[in-house]
Amino acid sequence: MHELCAGRENGGKPFIDVKGLVKHYPLKAGLFSTKAEKVHAVNGVSLSIERGKTHGLVGESGSGKTTTARLLLRVMEPDAGEFSFGDTQNVFTLEPGELKKIRRRMQYIFQDPYASLNPKMQVRDIVTEPLRYREAFPRGRGAGEEVSLIAGRLLERVGLSARDVRKYPHEFSGGQRQRLCIARALAGKPEFIVCDEPVSSLDVSIQSQILNLLLDIQKEEEISCLFIAHNLAVVFYLSDYVSVMYAGRIVEASPSRVLAAHARHPYTRLLLEAMPGGAKKEGSRASDSGETPSLIHLPRGCAFSSRCPLKKPACAETSPPLVEKEPGRFLACFEA
Ligand code: ADP
Ligand code: MG
Repeated sequence: MHELCAGRENGGKPFIDVKGLVKHYPLKAGLFSTKAEKVHAVNGVSLSIERGKTHGLVGESGSGKTTTARLLLRVMEPDAGEFSFGDTQNVFTLEPGELKKIRRRMQYIFQDPYASLNPKMQVRDIVTEPLRYREAFPRGRGAGEEVSLIAGRLLERVGLSARDVRKYPHEFSGGQRQRLCIARALAGKPEFIVCDEPVSSLDVSIQSQILNLLLDIQKEEEISCLFIAHNLAVVFYLSDYVSVMYAGRIVEASPSRVLAAHARHPYTRLLLEAMPGGAKKEGSRASDSGETPSLIHLPRGCAFSSRCPLKKPACAETSPPLVEKEPGRFLACFEA
């Protein structure tokens, strides 16, 4: 969909191509409602990523970013959508055996490094986990030394010491634990990494170190990356292309530098103004106040209209589709 880069494979299809992703979480009928309702978390998300490029996904908490990530990992099934990955037409319809093979080519880095590290395992075994079921993995007597060597190289790759291979996760700081997660993600030489708020739980002073590490590795290894964050500055730093998400939809998508210089959607502009050093101008266009819409009863029209300074009557009637306004620039707004 996004005409970002040349050099496409598969007859012009991007390496990663997600189309029309939908996920509505069922809620049980309860105290406040007699009928079973749904949380409209993801409402038709499409995005694509070229090989070796980073696609940033940004939006405030609750906009559906993590749900999107979890759908791509097939931790849960979507209600609709397709996900093509290289030669694989649709990851969502793969049988378990095929899915297992594809999963080896994808890795995930989450917000809370501690929760994703088994506290009872030595880091040597943690970081080599993705390799454990491969044929070439050292086994049997005397394999321990070899595994330690592999683990040591991975630790050094992420700026930790090879001497630490026998330590446990609690012996590391938050930033170091996220380095461990990155080392584990790299072990199997993945082609696609999903990073969901990888620095949000870390001290600000540590964040840029981890971001730089991710940037280095991703460029060096030519990994395609979906990089999720609620902080636009962080997303700009890492991403070639950025999609802005609001209430389960992408409202603006554009090459990163273009978006930073000239955002069009009032919601993107609001995010930009909220950035440190962002120009919160006199008579600013977008308002930070106003209600965010209920995801259970989504409005008929534009979900942002309750907060939008450009709102016209038509905006409350119809939800604006995401359309390509300029080559590679997509916008879902009638007025911007
Ligand atoms: P983000 O990562 O952008 O903060 P999420 O994808 O986590 O957004 O959540 C999107 C919406 O879906 C939120 O309103 C959230 O409360 C809701 N949600 C997430 N997981 C569930 C679930 N398991 N059941 C019901 N609602 C959920
Ligand atoms: Mg999230």
